[in-house]
Amino acid sequence: MTLHIPFDNSYVRLPSRFYARQVAAVASAPELIAFNAGLARQLGISFDDDTDALAAALSGAVIPEGAEPLAQAYAGHQFGGFSPQLGDGRALLLGEVVAPNGKRYDIQLKGSGRTPFSRNGDGKAWLGPVLREYVVSEAMHALGVPTTRALAAVATGDSVMRHAMLPGAVLTRVASSHLRIGTFQYFAVRGDVEALRTLTDFALARHYPEADGPTGLLQAVIDAQVKLIPHWMSLGFIHGVMNTDNTAISGETIDYGPCAFMDDFHPHKVFSSIDQQGRYAYSNQMHIVIWNLAQLASALVPLNESEDAAVEDYTARIHAMPDLLDAEWLRVFGRKIGIANATPEDKPMIEALLDLMAHDRADFTNTFRTLADGTAHDQFVQRDKYDAWHETHQQRIAREQDPLALMRSVNPVYIPRNHRIEAMINAAVDGDLAPFKRLMRVLADPFTPQPGEEDLTHPPTADEVVHRTLCG
Ligand code: AMP
Ligand code: MG
Ligand code: MG
Repeated sequence: MTLHIPFDNSYVRLPSRFYARQVAAVASAPELIAFNAGLARQLGISFDDDTDALAAALSGAVIPEGAEPLAQAYAGHQFGGFSPQLGDGRALLLGEVVAPNGKRYDIQLKGSGRTPFSRNGDGKAWLGPVLREYVVSEAMHALGVPTTRALAAVATGDSVMRHAMLPGAVLTRVASSHLRIGTFQYFAVRGDVEALRTLTDFALARHYPEADGPTGLLQAVIDAQVKLIPHWMSLGFIHGVMNTDNTAISGETIDYGPCAFMDDFHPHKVFSSIDQQGRYAYSNQMHIVIWNLAQLASALVPLNESEDAAVEDYTARIHAMPDLLDAEWLRVFGRKIGIANATPEDKPMIEALLDLMAHDRADFTNTFRTLADGTAHDQFVQRDKYDAWHETHQQRIAREQDPLALMRSVNPVYIPRNHRIEAMINAAVDGDLAPFKRLMRVLADPFTPQPGEEDLTHPPTADEVVHRTLCG
């Protein structure tokens, strides 16, 4: 046997109402598509080049030694409407590992078949969303954004019915945990205070050992999300499904579905085919995260001796979020234009640039990247207006230490552009993994221009534009 995962499982030791034990559906002809050897080594997983054994274990066809597969229970607000029972409907937690760095990680299969939480779903995934999550989550990691990681992608050999019969696949995902706001909501809606307390202690020990009690947990999650969302904003990233069940307690980006990076900038941009109202549009992400944290706060209230006092305290913490988010937004966007410690006086300059970009539909990534090269002018239609902005910007950054290096360190050259992902998926369905491998190679080093890869910086042509992204 060639794959050894040093499992050390803790979730399965929690009370049985936290999960349902479940084995994976057997894949008929598992075939390894991708394996993240670097990540495997970081996790202390040993393996050799027997790809059949890897494919069998990472499709769920064979249960790896030490795995105790289970589907986690959770609830959640989906597009504002509450579902008291969601849970892992197409995912299985195989178990956890404590990596050589001392941190604990979940190893999860996604697309491995039905569970007690599947409702009407088939529990499966097709190759498209599996490769999309693989590429985008690994790109986010390379961009420095807290995120779940991709360990493997395996084709199952079975077909999955979506808009057509499509090749089935399983993603192996790694997360510092899969605890979500919805996990807390699951027990809160049931009035199960004992489970809430157990879950709070578990989450604190795992993610925020320095924090204390439900209030400490709430504030730690607020602080983590206050860092995360402006980071997304700074890269033009739109998650697409910011439901409370897709908001991780750890502060990692989780559950990549119809997510997308913007090409041409517009603050109201939406890609997800299921987001008809634009609830999760680019600029709404800064508001929705507050709404989501308010749901976590509500779930934690019953853990307090005086619920009235807790409501008052938690309300104040939620009401403090807009200022915290604005300050973080200013910090990250200041850095994008070469200002190490932007102050509120710098805000109008950032907003003026974004307004101009939105008006001219300038490419988000390329505009910021070329600021440091002095060629951003080319991204605009109203070039006189840009030139005037550039003039004041030059004066401002003259007071900075090394603004060009700062800009180049935070403004990527490469992002996983939608049309490239789409083309990569189409090629993979036809058996050609070269575009996938190329994206993975280039996106591993997104801040460095790479010879021969210039075309990956190009926005889509009119007929390449992807207007809608699907959920899987
Ligand atoms: P998502 O918003 O994609 O994270 O999914 C929301 C809920 O639907 C979760 O409980 C998922 O496990 C479940 N779900 C999504 N797709 C499927 C599927 N194909 N089969 C079963 N459950 C699914
Ligand atoms: Mg159970
Ligand atoms: Mg989800």
